[in-house]
Amino acid sequence: MSTVPASNAAPAPPAPGPTAPAAPAAKARKRRVFWFVAAIVAMHLLVPLAFLPYTFAWWGIPVVLIGNFVFGSLGINLGYHRMLTHSAARFPKALERLWVLCGVCSLEGSPLWWVCTHRIHHQHSDDEGDPHSPQEHFYWGHMEWIYTADERRQKLDTYARYVPDLMGDKFLRWLHRGERWLLVWAAHVAALAALGFAAGFLFADTAAGAVQFGVQWFLWAVVVRTVYVWHITWLVNSAAHRWGYRSYNTGDRSTNNWVVALLTNGEGWHNNHHAAPRACSQGHRWWELDLTFTFVRALQLVGLAWNIAPVKVPKHIAAGAKSDTPGEREE
Ligand SMILES: [Zn+2]
Ligand SMILES: [Zn+2]
Repeated sequence: MSTVPASNAAPAPPAPGPTAPAAPAAKARKRRVFWFVAAIVAMHLLVPLAFLPYTFAWWGIPVVLIGNFVFGSLGINLGYHRMLTHSAARFPKALERLWVLCGVCSLEGSPLWWVCTHRIHHQHSDDEGDPHSPQEHFYWGHMEWIYTADERRQKLDTYARYVPDLMGDKFLRWLHRGERWLLVWAAHVAALAALGFAAGFLFADTAAGAVQFGVQWFLWAVVVRTVYVWHITWLVNSAAHRWGYRSYNTGDRSTNNWVVALLTNGEGWHNNHHAAPRACSQGHRWWELDLTFTFVRALQLVGLAWNIAPVKVPKHIAAGAKSDTPGEREE
């Protein structure tokens, strides 16, 4: 996406930049927090509706899993995380935009906000400045941090410092400014709902059956899928910083958690990721399955992916220790 390589883990040194006026920024932040909380609460309240006799459908389960691959794995794992945050691979421009849009449709924040947050996490992982370390409370690391104001991300100079390579991208700036990414998300919800009802009226025998299919489709393809992708993404921040094995002494508390890895198609090999943040593959052993990376490899075979960052673990971390208990931070 960006022509300037992103940092491996730690962001660029502080660059002088304009500071947003405190009051409007705080207002914007409050608005953002409000909408996040509203969306999170509304989506969770809607989930049980998908399990009523009228709305439950077995086909909903594969729809959620496919939706997870499209919006979670391609949007968040590949687009927001590996491509934008770590410059782990390049794709044709149209595909890069598509990954970003899939990420936007996962309702996890604007790309600039997400990347900024994640680079701060890499710099301060499980340390004082970490936006979402779960060491004190699992719930904080899992989701509470999302709707708690963070002064740092109210300021433009934080973005100038942590995402300077992406600030020049007009598309990403457009999505971020005025929370326009939410409009894109809303448009995708409307499009998916319309698709469901249109399919219902095309294939159902009765009008009542068509409406039922539309409602089922909306609940499973939008609501359950969104909540599912949220929680498995958040598990990377919470569970994969608490439980699992460690292949490297990365100085934080990141772990390789196979449950999270399977659910997220590869992101749960999180200790590996902290050891080699830029590497496109997060599975370092043959059995550490990373379907997101397998997809990138397939694209590479047909010439649609290049500049794939290899696994390079710094010597002091590679030699540092396999340990089942988190090691002390190495300064
Ligand atoms: Zn982490
Ligand atoms: Zn990362």
